[in-house]
Amino acid sequence: MAKITGSCLCGKVKFHCENQFTQFHLCHCELCQKVTGSAHASNLFTVHDNIIWLRGYAFVKRFDVPGCSMAHAFCVECGSAMPRLSGKEKLLVVPAGSLDSQANIAPQSNICWDERAKWYDDALNAPHIDGVPE
Ligand SMILES: [Zn+2]
Ligand SMILES: [Zn+2]
Repeated sequence: MAKITGSCLCGKVKFHCENQFTQFHLCHCELCQKVTGSAHASNLFTVHDNIIWLRGYAFVKRFDVPGCSMAHAFCVECGSAMPRLSGKEKLLVVPAGSLDSQANIAPQSNICWDERAKWYDDALNAPHIDGVPE
């Protein structure tokens, strides 16, 4: 079985998983917009024990939003989103951007579409530019 590695921006945290994700959802809810600072979260799901922390687990902090099942895990040094257990602790939630290579599955759905950022429809129609403009 193929392993896939993940890491944070500063490199203090590193982990690997079997590349056997069963769900991949882009969540556009208002909480995910806040926590990512962007249009949506991009979350892969796998069984709860499919992770080995290779280094830096002590740098991973979890925040549970009071009054709901939303949570967020991140590197305390650089703020990168990190894997966490889902609210009911049945599944491991892995932010797609934390992985160092391609997951075994493609996005399956855009969830909470009705809550999407007002500017997102325009973003979909904006030009695609390779690299960063001068
Ligand atoms: Zn970091
Ligand atoms: Zn969400």
